[in-house]
Parts: sequence; structure tokens; C-alpha cells
Amino acid sequence: MVIDLHCHSLHSDGTDTPERLALLGDEARLTALCLTDHDTLGGIPAFLAMQPQVKVRLLVGTEISCRFLGRSLHVLGLLVNPLDLQFQARLEELRGRREERNHRMLLRLAELGCPITREDVQDHADSPLLSRVHFALALAAKGFVRRAPEAFERLIGDDCPGFVPRQELSPSEASLWIREAGGVPVVAHPGRFGGGSFRWDEAMADLQRQGLEGLEGYYGEYRAAEQKYFVALAARLGMVVTGGSDYHGSHKPGLRLGRGAGGLKVPDELLGRLEAQQRFGSYS
Ligand code: AMP
Ligand code: MN
Ligand code: MN
Ligand code: MN
Repeated sequence: MVIDLHCHSLHSDGTDTPERLALLGDEARLTALCLTDHDTLGGIPAFLAMQPQVKVRLLVGTEISCRFLGRSLHVLGLLVNPLDLQFQARLEELRGRREERNHRMLLRLAELGCPITREDVQDHADSPLLSRVHFALALAAKGFVRRAPEAFERLIGDDCPGFVPRQELSPSEASLWIREAGGVPVVAHPGRFGGGSFRWDEAMADLQRQGLEGLEGYYGEYRAAEQKYFVALAARLGMVVTGGSDYHGSHKPGLRLGRGAGGLKVPDELLGRLEAQQRFGSYS
């Protein structure tokens, strides 16, 4: 029996509606599915409204970005209370910072000879939250790159000239926000942080001291050795292990819900331990 605790809808940078994700969760025979859009719970009401129609348990989450060791580190807020008004306001602040970053990125791209407008970017998004995924599609549509992946390679990838970082939270702030909303703060895809040779042991212990309670030990794009390493690391540190596909619909064509790149199997026994860390019991 498998679960998937990491996926995106068109409320952030995925392409499926929350309703369709719930149906796909049943199709993939998952016992639980958590929606984790970046910086928003906008898809959650429609997602939870599907519960009577599907067998898969539908869970609430979000993914936010932090600054750690000079790079961007993603943190999942799993099982947050979707009715928490303070948390909603905090996510709104993050979306404001994202808008500000997007504005500066448009200016930077114009300086680099790739003038596109906010409307050009919005044309490729189905919600007001604009991400670099939508920038990449707009840059391709305007002919500044041949295909969207090339935009990440040459223009808007983390180390590229057209990239502008957002003002990001510290890991301790992100953990506090998530814990105050009743949820469990989890380091998302640590294997993608800092390159393959990054030594995690000390860094993860540091994050744990900053309030992070879990890490994504199973991930859609991990190799078997990475999964083994992170599951063992979590056990050594006494952290919760979670896992998910990071499904984005057609924006990440190689990934399937529940299956990742093919071999993903997140055991549903993990859910009990995660729920034991949740603060205010269940809502819905
Ligand atoms: P943003 O949150 O607007 O900075 O955009 C980050 C999103 O862009 C990530 O969540 C990924 O979905 C996507 N992304 C980042 N880097 C790459 C890359 N090199 N190739 C493809 N997609 C990427
Ligand atoms: Mn994404
Ligand atoms: Mn991420
Ligand atoms: Mn994600």
C-alpha cells in the first residue's frame, strides 16, 4: 500500500486541477495523497471537496522555500490546518514576495535582450501564482529559447543571469510557521540540494535544531542509493521520513503521481508517524 505526500496542481506550477489529482490518486491506488502547492493553499478547498468521491485519503500541505547555506532549500508543511488564518496571511506574504521577485526578473530579462511582459507569463498559467515554469514557457513562446528547458539552462535557472532570488525565510521561521499551523515541517528532496556530493549529516542535524522534524526520504527522482542514504539518516537523527513524487503534470513530463520516474513506492506505514507529529488533530 503506497502514498504520495508531494504534488502540485495548477494553483501553483502543476497542470492538473485539484479535482483531477484526487481522481488520479484513486487510479494510482494510493491510500493517501497530499497536495503541496508552492506558497498557497488555494487548491485545497476543491481538493478536499473531492473526498466523498474517492477512496484515497486527501491531505493538506504546502511547499515553501528557505535560504540555507546560501542556497534555496524547499520545506514541505504537511498536515497544516487549512483554516488557520495566521498561516493563510503568512502564505499571502510569501506570494507578495514572489510577485516582487517576478517583477524584478522581468526587468532583468529585458536587460538581457529577452523582453517579456507579466501578461505573456500569465498566458501560460491557470492561476495568479506565477512561477519560473511559466516564465520558461513564455520565453519559448516568444522565441527567446527553443524550448522551455533551455530557459532554465541559459536564463532563469538558479545560477543563470536572468534569475532573481526571492526574499526567503530562514529554516527556523518556516518551521515555526508550519508548526504554529498545526503541521509538520519536512525537508523536501534533500538529494536535490547543493549537488550530489553535498555531505548532509551535519547540515541535517542543524536543520533539526532549527525545528525541521522530517525529511523526504522517498522521492520521485531519487536513485536507490539516495533513498537508502536519506532513510538511514532520518533514522539516525530520529526524524520522520516522508515521500512523494513531486508530480507537476505536463510541466514535468517524466513523473507520474505515486510512481515518480517509475520506481517510487512510499510505504503507507509512514503516515502514522507523521500524524503523530501533527498538532491539532484532524480537521476536514
Ligand atoms: P519559482 O518558485 O518561481 O522560483 O520556480 C521554481 C520552480 O521551477 C520549481 O518548483 C520547479 O518546478 C521549476 N524549476 C526550477 N529549476 C528548474 C530546472 N532547472 N528545470 C526545470 N524546472 C525547474
Ligand atoms: Mn515546482
Ligand atoms: Mn521543491
Ligand atoms: Mn514540489
